Amino acid sequence: MSVQDCIFCKIIAGQIPCTKIYENEFVLAFLDVGPVSEGHVLVVSKQHTSSVDQTDPRAMAEIAKVLPDLAGSVKKAMAADGYNVLCNNGASAGQVVGHMHFHIIPRKANDGVFNQWPAFQYPEGKAKEIGDKIRENISL
Ligand code: 5GP
Ligand code: ZN
Repeated sequence: MSVQDCIFCKIIAGQIPCTKIYENEFVLAFLDVGPVSEGHVLVVSKQHTSSVDQTDPRAMAEIAKVLPDLAGSVKKAMAADGYNVLCNNGASAGQVVGHMHFHIIPRKANDGVFNQWPAFQYPEGKAKEIGDKIRENISL
């Protein structure tokens, strides 16, 4: 997706309106237009990137700098019991807008927003195999 076609780049450029929550040189936070709970906020880097793995660590660090305060502010303002910080990467993971973003979703006890976490257990030896495979791909 090109920056010209990106809806969040248009919001950042002020071409599409949003309910702005916070802005600095690197980051914009605004209300999600299709919230899953009241106070659902999106936090985006002003630099267009598609996913976490494609994001410059310095741009990610700018998000990390503001996320604690923004999450706390959402929680307090909405009198939430907790919140989810989510980032969908790729269509298979539910990403619809191809500009990397974090959701802050305020939660109340028993609100039923996300009830299921489809956890399972690794069979014997599988965790080591997968751990090895992932470590082989780290370039840090
Ligand atoms: P994703 O599924 O890509 O992680 O989430 C995209 C989010 O962007 C959705 O929750 C959707 O409601 C929100 N969204 C899509 N278009 C707009 C828009 O034009 N304005 C705002 N504020 N949110 C949008
Ligand atoms: Zn964009």
